[in-house]
Amino acid sequence: MPSAKIYYDNDANLDVLKDKTIVFLGFGNQGAAQAQNLRDSGIPNDKIIIANRPDHYAEDAKSKGFNVEHDFAKAAKAADVVFLLIPDQVQPRVFNNEVAPNLKDNAAIVVASGYNVFYKLLNFKPSQDVVMVAPRMIGSSVRSLYTKGKGFPCFVSVEQDGTGKALEIALALSRAIGATKAGAIASSAREETAMDLFAEQALWPNIIMLFREAFSVLKEAGCSDEALCYEMWMSKEPAEIFERAAEDGFIQQLKHHSTVSQYGQLSGALALDGKQAREHFKNILYNQVLNGKFCQEFSKIEADLEKEGDANPLNVLYQKSEETELGQAEKRVRARLAGLLQAE
Ligand code: NDP
Repeated sequence: MPSAKIYYDNDANLDVLKDKTIVFLGFGNQGAAQAQNLRDSGIPNDKIIIANRPDHYAEDAKSKGFNVEHDFAKAAKAADVVFLLIPDQVQPRVFNNEVAPNLKDNAAIVVASGYNVFYKLLNFKPSQDVVMVAPRMIGSSVRSLYTKGKGFPCFVSVEQDGTGKALEIALALSRAIGATKAGAIASSAREETAMDLFAEQALWPNIIMLFREAFSVLKEAGCSDEALCYEMWMSKEPAEIFERAAEDGFIQQLKHHSTVSQYGQLSGALALDGKQAREHFKNILYNQVLNGKFCQEFSKIEADLEKEGDANPLNVLYQKSEETELGQAEKRVRARLAGLLQAE
């Protein structure tokens, strides 16, 4: 596999966006950050429209001086570029019903996540450009790093090149939101979706399971709930380890630990052959993520996620997870140490 191309400011030409009307559908985490960055990069305010229902997000956009349009069809008609920055699960419904029928034939559609494009849930015309500009950063950091003159990691790709100029547009938009300053990595909706969903459905569930089982084993061996919660995560040691891993290297960060710890971790990890985990990971990647099985199942329950109580499947999963030994113990510990936790 060749190394990925990385695009910098010099690879992008903001002139490509001259005279284009740019619509942000959504002014939440990413929408608010990207629209402000784009405007601060010199795109005239009268060329930017925030499309949002009339509520506090719309008020926030107005208070920041943006032109706000509540009628999505009207905003779509004016758009040369439309950023889809509303939650992934509502994009198909909102885009296909209210935006797509009103878009220009040569409009560019920008997604910040590969999910709906990879699973073909959005209706595009072949003449339109579809690009992904996906910051690997929460919205508040996309904004704060930009204001500090710094970049942030971002994936960029062309998913459909209707006009023949999709890459130029994707790079100009990446530069305008501040993503090419540190280098935007050439990727694809498939790659982004595979990695994202793999982490969510294979890697992190295993980490949650390992913590849950480790908690029970140590508790059975006589460790207190308080000691366990602090030892395992409330001290923030795992967070620090990952911070060091990003700074010093995944393996090299171990050098910050005691020699006993280094020896234990390195020899322990090498002694585990990982075969079973690899088979499980492959199964999730190929038979759940890449084949679209999870997406189909999620689409079926998506509407229920707005329901209250047990009718909402996410609430049921939370309840079950809180009922585990770890969940129950943590609740007790947090209630008991409420004052201490607040003071930290
Ligand atoms: P948010 O949850 O912050 O989106 C909120 C915005 O979506 C608001 O403007 C809200 O306005 C609007 N919205 C919500 N529901 C609807 C609806 N049914 N109809 C119309 N508008 C709606 O989204 P994010 O910024 O977190 O995510 C946007 C995209 O960015 C996603 O594709 C996500 O995967 C991607 N992304 C997100 C990251 C993050 O840090 N959160 C990181 C990288 C990418 P209102 O409620 O008024 O309608």
